[in-house]
Amino acid sequence: MNLIEELYALQKEHGFLRDPDLRALSKRVRVPLYEIEGVASFYPHFRRTPAPRHVVTGCRDLSCWMNEGKLTLAKLRNLCSGKEDVEFHEVSCLGRCDAAPACTIDDVPIAAGDVARYLEEPESLPKNEPTRTPRRWPIDPYQDQAHRYGVLLEYLKTRDIDGLIEKLKGSGLSGMGGAGFPTGVKWDFVRKAKGGKKYVICNADESEPGTFKDRVIKEEVGHLVLEGMMLGALAVGADEGIVYIRHEYVKEAEAIRRGIQRAYAENLLGDNVLGSGWRFDLRVFISPGGYILGEETALLEALEGKRGEPRNKPPYPGTHGLHGCPTLINNVETLAMVPYVLRTGTQDYKFFSISGDVEVPGVHCAPAGTTLNQLIEKCGGMKDGVALKAFLPGGASTRFLGAEHADIVMDWQSLKDAGSSLGSGAVVVIGEGRNMHHVARNLTEFFRNESCGKCVPCRIGTEKAVTMIDRKEMERMPDLHETLLETSICGLGQAALNPILSALELFPHGK
Ligand code: SF4
Repeated sequence: MNLIEELYALQKEHGFLRDPDLRALSKRVRVPLYEIEGVASFYPHFRRTPAPRHVVTGCRDLSCWMNEGKLTLAKLRNLCSGKEDVEFHEVSCLGRCDAAPACTIDDVPIAAGDVARYLEEPESLPKNEPTRTPRRWPIDPYQDQAHRYGVLLEYLKTRDIDGLIEKLKGSGLSGMGGAGFPTGVKWDFVRKAKGGKKYVICNADESEPGTFKDRVIKEEVGHLVLEGMMLGALAVGADEGIVYIRHEYVKEAEAIRRGIQRAYAENLLGDNVLGSGWRFDLRVFISPGGYILGEETALLEALEGKRGEPRNKPPYPGTHGLHGCPTLINNVETLAMVPYVLRTGTQDYKFFSISGDVEVPGVHCAPAGTTLNQLIEKCGGMKDGVALKAFLPGGASTRFLGAEHADIVMDWQSLKDAGSSLGSGAVVVIGEGRNMHHVARNLTEFFRNESCGKCVPCRIGTEKAVTMIDRKEMERMPDLHETLLETSICGLGQAALNPILSALELFPHGK
């Protein structure tokens, strides 16, 4: 067990981390108490005070904020403040932008309007149960459960790893977590990295406002994610894999755990997979942290039991990853695409999570060539028929585009040509009537709240940016952005001011 797993175990036993337990842990694992305190205090999930009977949370970020979020937070705060042994917390994006304004009680997602009733009758609280009728997604090559993992079986038989990597490269599959790095190139890189021990990690820590497609993929086609990891392990020579999932995704983590158990039972995981002599073990790790843990080196730090602060790069995880070993890290959607891409040789679908000012926010798997307008149509059109004003094409760290791009094809090249990015495929649609400076302020606040604080320019600069927006002192925003770009260790600081800068360029007066 690493230090974080030890802390989880203590918190599970007593409901919070007690001083004597931490002192005993320090002696037992021979880690100084100050280091243990440093780790525990870094992660929002760990408590140092006794847990109340109920914890209610409400999301404060963009898609919820656009959907009466502020009012909802105020109502929830009022409601909870009058109740004994109930705590209320405003939290960063819960990954449920399709249910905005998103709330939870005791980690169970519920509608804001139901909170009062569940506090009165906690026994009626819904369980974190799996979705009863998962949809059929076009990227799932298998008609039924009995025929799953067929692509893995083919490659276990042929061991044509050169062919596998060439197919990935030829398909153009690239990272869907935001960076867009070519998947085949990454796999080849890790395959060629020197090292006896190698790891495969699925980054399932999506936490950026507007992004919730990985949540749906894990729950509805989790077997494709696992098969993608198995194929990655076979390709790069790894024998251990970890699915790193944010702690708020309780039922999605359960779905992945069930998939892993089933794969072990069917001898698709373990010491001698289907008698092939190939070995691969897979487990789930629940992240105790916030948004920054989705940064791949911060995630590695957490897996090593440390504070989840991003590392300086290079070296990159491909050569120096978990415990210094070559590590293949891919996002959920990328891995889920792998079996389809290896079967068909093409990558002609993309998942989008669409939220904001649309009638029915949700996740859609759209064929190549799909335009923004078509995605909005899939969501039942603009909310209340309002006109499109702007949109974020790829999550909170991409630049806004204006309504003149409504017919843009939602792919890497088209969005790059237009001055933004496909990012994580998280589309947030903004309708006419909204003040874009207020919209961008909400995103800037998110980055300020989630900055890990390791780099002074990011820690201070994101706070400064919020103040500058409030004071309407926007002239120096490009300079501040330049400073963050040059001096931040990771993408959070480098991209934090993208929304406000693009909003200023497109809508100098906000309207
Ligand atoms: Fe942390 Fe910000 Fe530095 Fe990233 S840029 S390491 S989030 S302080």
